[in-house]
Amino acid sequence: MKKKEKNFKFSDKKENLHLIIDIGWHLIVSSLAFIIIYIFFKSWKLALLAFFSGTLIDIDHLVDYFLVYKINFRLEKFFKGYQFLESRRVYVFLHGWEWIIIILLVGFLAGFMPAAIAIALGIFGHLVVDQTLGFRHEPLFYFLTYRIIKKFKLDVLDKNFKKKWKPI
Ligand SMILES: [Zn+2]
Repeated sequence: MKKKEKNFKFSDKKENLHLIIDIGWHLIVSSLAFIIIYIFFKSWKLALLAFFSGTLIDIDHLVDYFLVYKINFRLEKFFKGYQFLESRRVYVFLHGWEWIIIILLVGFLAGFMPAAIAIALGIFGHLVVDQTLGFRHEPLFYFLTYRIIKKFKLDVLDKNFKKKWKPI
């Protein structure tokens, strides 16, 4: 028997606008990373790497989505974050300040430092935007280790979520 899917009502009408502003800032900051890396390394490839590291990191939201809804993909549900509400977990594995240190360290040890700097700068810019605009989260939310310690529980990591969402 098919499990009945829960639906959630958006209680904050500004949320759509928030999403557009969020994407806009990611594009602006990633473009900035692109310019910085290009000026520094004079390489389009590295500059593009910085840009895409800063924008495509959000594909980790897909993992959270597929863990809940499997391949039943619906763009609106995905963008509105139903996956987090349904599972009450928020993994977003690529969102973590720790990755910057890890990538730079691996780049240094394995000898691909320019690429590592480009990726690290892209991620850095992305997390700065998420950290500043994602005011509803706990301050340490963007540390992967913090989320692991809190067992990825949405109720603990985002105490305001109940105000925004009502199950219907
Ligand atoms: Zn993000």
